[in-house]
Amino acid sequence: MRGLWNSDEAARHSGELALRVYSSQLLGRDPSLVLHGGGNTSVKLREVNVLGEALDILYVKGSGWDLATIREPGFAPVRLDHLLKLATLESLSDPQMVSELATHVVRAGAPAPSVETILHAILPYPYVDHTHADALLAVTGTADGARRVREIYGDDVVLIPYVMPGFDLARLCAREFPRQAHAGTVGMVLLNHGIFSFGSSAQESYQRMIALVARAQAYLETNRAWNLPPAAVTVPTAGRQDIARLRRDISACAGYPVVFAIHGDAKFLAFAQRADVAQISQQGPVTPDHVLRTKRVPMLGRDVGAYAAAYRDYFARQAARARQPKIMLDAAPRVVLDAGFGLGCVGRSAREAAIVRDIYSHTIDVILAATALGGYRALPEQDIFDVEYWDLEQAKLQKTGAPRPFAGEVALVTGAASGIGKACVASLLARGAAVIALDINPDVATSFQQPEVLGLCCDVSVAGDVSRALESGVRAFGGLDLLVLNAGIFPGGKRVAELSDQEWRRVMQVNLDANLTLLREAHPLLKLALRGGRVVIIGSKNVPAPGPGAAAYSASKAALTQLARVVALEWGADGIRVNTLHPNAVFDTGVWSDEVVVQRARHYGLSVADYKTNNVLKVEICSRDVAELAAEMCGSLFDKTTGAQLPVDGGNERVI
Ligand code: ZN
Repeated sequence: MRGLWNSDEAARHSGELALRVYSSQLLGRDPSLVLHGGGNTSVKLREVNVLGEALDILYVKGSGWDLATIREPGFAPVRLDHLLKLATLESLSDPQMVSELATHVVRAGAPAPSVETILHAILPYPYVDHTHADALLAVTGTADGARRVREIYGDDVVLIPYVMPGFDLARLCAREFPRQAHAGTVGMVLLNHGIFSFGSSAQESYQRMIALVARAQAYLETNRAWNLPPAAVTVPTAGRQDIARLRRDISACAGYPVVFAIHGDAKFLAFAQRADVAQISQQGPVTPDHVLRTKRVPMLGRDVGAYAAAYRDYFARQAARARQPKIMLDAAPRVVLDAGFGLGCVGRSAREAAIVRDIYSHTIDVILAATALGGYRALPEQDIFDVEYWDLEQAKLQKTGAPRPFAGEVALVTGAASGIGKACVASLLARGAAVIALDINPDVATSFQQPEVLGLCCDVSVAGDVSRALESGVRAFGGLDLLVLNAGIFPGGKRVAELSDQEWRRVMQVNLDANLTLLREAHPLLKLALRGGRVVIIGSKNVPAPGPGAAAYSASKAALTQLARVVALEWGADGIRVNTLHPNAVFDTGVWSDEVVVQRARHYGLSVADYKTNNVLKVEICSRDVAELAAEMCGSLFDKTTGAQLPVDGGNERVI
């Protein structure tokens, strides 16, 4: 554990709030301290309001902000005197508490203060830092965690037993802190939850946090329970069809499509293959902070029905005990451990699945350390349930709006690095899909910098490339629901009299044969799509209205259209819809340079503007127009349409 405080960097932050931002970001930089919005920080400042009155204000992390990227507007200013009065109440429901916090913020438009705000208020120091450090969770996630905390820290820290986050925890700390604290107190440990540090400056509070966590790590190292070498693993056996089938079962159980990301790295594979995996993975999460994203326990193996039944039992058992009626969450797992593939992470988006991966990766670190220390022990089931079915979370659940139409679905687009293909990626992403983007241009691997896109360099006319791309795509997102066949080539205009066999074959190979391969290989995956597979073929106006000089191109697109019609007939029984678009004169693609457009316009004796809008509606057709229609054809508007051909050409007299 190394502190990151840098005096030069710190000197660039002037003011107490700016330094609060700086040291919060330092905490956020270390995922073994806080992960994805976990942890929170605060500073107490005296300010003068418009009436000239001096007020004590607690600036505390607002919800929705991540410590790694927080800025000054991410801190909610709350009246400190009111918070201190709240802390003396005998009881306050969590919804009431949230309301009290929201109504005592002194800046319009500030984010909602963290639910741990009162805890920050009662600690009598200007700066307060709170993390869910892995090392602390490992030490306290054992049968005799409290004894170990005393062994590590003596009475340098205040020790608080586990209580669910919220008002009751704040009230307990308000009572316990003055009882245990003394001049040498530097922190507060919350069993099975995390740790607080505090100080008179941002630097002091931050450095105390680092020093406290370092002491826990040193203790783990002394006990040979930290940085354990990964165990030997056997080669994973699950193939893409196994994974896609499992994703289908999980989606069906959830009631909506999910992204299912596979991680077969040695760390995850070794954990999933441990002889004692059932014993150590089925106890529960390492901190309440993780419950909502990872569910109570991971699924072991591939029997979703059995997992869901066990989850329903857990809910029935605990809901009967709860004071408030509860709405059951879906019974699908969020984490899957399987000796045949390692770790599988479930999310409504690739981003969500990546968060689950990060959290479970740290969960593994904590569980392994606690196991090496003498035995991992999670919170009792009812404490976990109280967090999972917390009133505040249940209220959020009722408020959540409708997800985007393709949320949780996986699309594959060929020719995705430019033009219509690139626009299709954007249109599918905008509707919530994860996208496997293929292109022969290697730039595709780096041009989409986001977790929702897997860019793969792939020559679709090489069967081995296609198969490998599908394998990688399924490992990244779990399966395939939507397929947009767009890749194609358009060699320069040649009359049939000059057309070589070689050129004819090359055009057929890319525009036709490659699509047959991809359709055939994708079929078993598309069959598993929860809402039925959807295929969109990018054809051409040249199919209904060919022109001279493009025999190979026109013939290849006509054959592709016919292939699509046959596929629509054959796959209807599998619930797969196959439709074709015929764009024309889309000039913002790789095929058309400005120079070529000028040349062609001159050839027809037209201005560039007239040439670009040379259609019935006198409109210009852009890649985006084609992409939006392709995406819509995958949506519910076209639920009952297959085998159709639709022009997107501004109206063409020969086609009409
Ligand atoms: Zn916390």
